[in-house]
Amino acid sequence: MQGLMMDMPLLVSNLLQHAARHFPDVEIVSRRVEGDLHRYNYAAFAARTEKLANALTSHGVQVGDRVATLAWNGYRHMEIYYAVGGMGSVIHTINPRLHPEQIAWIVNHAEDTLLAFDLTFLPIVEAIAEHCPTVKGWVAMCDRDRMPAGSKIANLICYEDLLASGKDGFVWPDIDERSAVCLCYTSGTTGNPKGALYSHRSTLLQAYGAALPDAMGCSAKDTILPVVPMFHVNAWGIPYIAPLVGAKLVFPGPALDGKSIYELFESEKVTYSAGVPTVWLGLLNHVVGNKLTFSTFNRTVIGGSACPPAMIRTFREQFGVNVIHAWGMTEMSPLGTLSVLQTKHLSMPADKQEAVLAKQGHVIFGVDMKIVGDDGQEMPWDGVSYGELLVRGPWVIKSYFKGAGGDPLRYDTQHRGWFPTGDVATIDADGYMQITDRSKDVIKSGGEWISSIDLENLAIGHPAVAQAAVIGVVHPKWDERPLLIVVKRPGVEVSRDELLAFYEGKIAKWWTPDDVQFVEAIPLGATGKILKTRLREMFKDYRLPGA
Ligand code: ADP
Repeated sequence: MQGLMMDMPLLVSNLLQHAARHFPDVEIVSRRVEGDLHRYNYAAFAARTEKLANALTSHGVQVGDRVATLAWNGYRHMEIYYAVGGMGSVIHTINPRLHPEQIAWIVNHAEDTLLAFDLTFLPIVEAIAEHCPTVKGWVAMCDRDRMPAGSKIANLICYEDLLASGKDGFVWPDIDERSAVCLCYTSGTTGNPKGALYSHRSTLLQAYGAALPDAMGCSAKDTILPVVPMFHVNAWGIPYIAPLVGAKLVFPGPALDGKSIYELFESEKVTYSAGVPTVWLGLLNHVVGNKLTFSTFNRTVIGGSACPPAMIRTFREQFGVNVIHAWGMTEMSPLGTLSVLQTKHLSMPADKQEAVLAKQGHVIFGVDMKIVGDDGQEMPWDGVSYGELLVRGPWVIKSYFKGAGGDPLRYDTQHRGWFPTGDVATIDADGYMQITDRSKDVIKSGGEWISSIDLENLAIGHPAVAQAAVIGVVHPKWDERPLLIVVKRPGVEVSRDELLAFYEGKIAKWWTPDDVQFVEAIPLGATGKILKTRLREMFKDYRLPGA
C-alpha cells in the first residue's frame, strides 16, 4: 500500500523559495573582490537569481548543461549556484588554486558551456580560454565599469549586463530530484581529477542532516561565515544550510587572512564559521598576537584535515569557542562525521571530553560506516583496532562523472555497495571514529603502523611549533621511520632534541620520530592540506641519522 502524502521533489530551488518567503529580510553580506562590502537579503537574492535564470535560459543554457565557476565566496557565486541548479543545469565549481593546465583539463572533461569568474582569476581564464572549445561564453563577475579593458578573450560577458538582460520572475521547473545539480572534482593528488556529481536529492538530504543540532547545529539565530570555499565541495553545504534554517550569511570573498576574517566576525556579529585548520592558525595568531577577543563568535566546524587538539583547547579555553571537529570528503558531499558530546560525556573530566572532541566523530543519520581489515572483514568498534574506512549513504558517491575509474564501490555479502574512503581509522564503542591516517600516508615501521596524524597533533602542541608534518622515510632495518618536519613560530627557538623530548610519556617510545627537520614552509595543496607527496619528494634524498 502506498502512502498518501504529496510527492514533492527535493530541489535546491525549494530552498531559495523557502528563504525568500520565510526569511525575506535576513541578510547576505559579501566582501567583494573590489574590497567593499555588498549587502542585501534573501528576498533580493531570490529576485536577482530569478532574473539570472531567465537570462541564462535566453542565452541558450539548457537542462543538464554544465556552467562553471572560478570564484570566491560571494553573493554572485551564490546566485549562480541557485540559478543554474534551480533551472536544471549543473553548476561546476572549479578550484582556482589548481594549475591552469589542470583547470583546462577539468573544463574540457566536464564540457562546460559557460564559465563565470571573479576578476582575480582573469589571468587563469586568459591562459585557458583558447584551449577550452566547449565554453561559449566567459562571464566576468563584476559591474560594467570594472570589465577588463583590452582583453583577448572572445565572448567575454559582463555578469551584471547578463543578469540585467533577464526578465523578472522565473518559474522553477519541477525536475526529477535525482537530477544532477553540482559537479565537483577531487583534487587529483594521484592521477587525473575525478568528478563527483551531486543530485538535488543528495544535496537537500545532506543539508537537512548537517543542520541538525548534533551535527553542524545551525539555526535562524546564527550568522554564518563560511571560510571554507564555495569552489570546493559547496563550502561544506553552507550555501544550502543557511537558507534552509534562515541564518544570515557573511561571505569573506578573497580576504582570507586572520585580520580580515576577524574584522568581519566583529562587524557582522558572526556566531558560526567553518574552515580547515590552516585558516584558523592565521586567525588565532592574529587574535592572540593583538590580545583580542570574540564578541559573538561561539562555534566553528573544523575539518578537511585533522584538527590538532591544541587548537580545540585554545579556542575553548581562551575564547569560549566550541570546535566541532568534522570529517568528510568530496565523494561524500562532503559531511560524514562530526564530534559533539553526548549526555554520557558531560560528567567526564575536561581531558576526557577533549579526547572525544579531538576524534573525527559520530556519523549523521544518512551515513553508515565500517572499518575493515586487509581481508575485507569488519573490525571491532573498540577504539583500538584500525582498518580501512568504508561508507555508504544517500549523499555518498556511487560512481564518478562519466564513469571515470570504473566502479569505485566494494560489495558486501548482501551486495550492498560501500565506498572505500582511503582513510584508516578506529571506531570506539560509542561510534566515534578517529582517523589515524590516509592509507597512503601511514608509516609502517617493523610491520606496525604509526599514525602520522597523532605525531603531528602532539608536535603542534609545543609552543615553538607553528606547523608540523610527519612522513615516513626509508630505514634499512624498520622499512620506514617517522621524520618530523617543523615550521617554527617566528622569533622562537627550539632544538631537535627538545622537540623529540616533548613526545616523552605521550606516546609509545618507538613511535618517537627519528629526526626533526626545520623548514621555512610546509607545502599545501589546493584545498589547504599538507601535501605529503611534495614533502616525500623534498626529502627523498634525506637519510636518517645512523640509517
Ligand atoms: P581531496 O583532498 O582529495 O580533494 P577531499 O577534500 O575530499 O579530498 O578530502 C578528503 C580527505 O581529507 C579525507 O579522505 C581525509 O583523508 C581528509 N580529512 C578530511 N577531514 C579530516 C579530518 N577531520 N581529519 C583527518 N583527515 C580529514
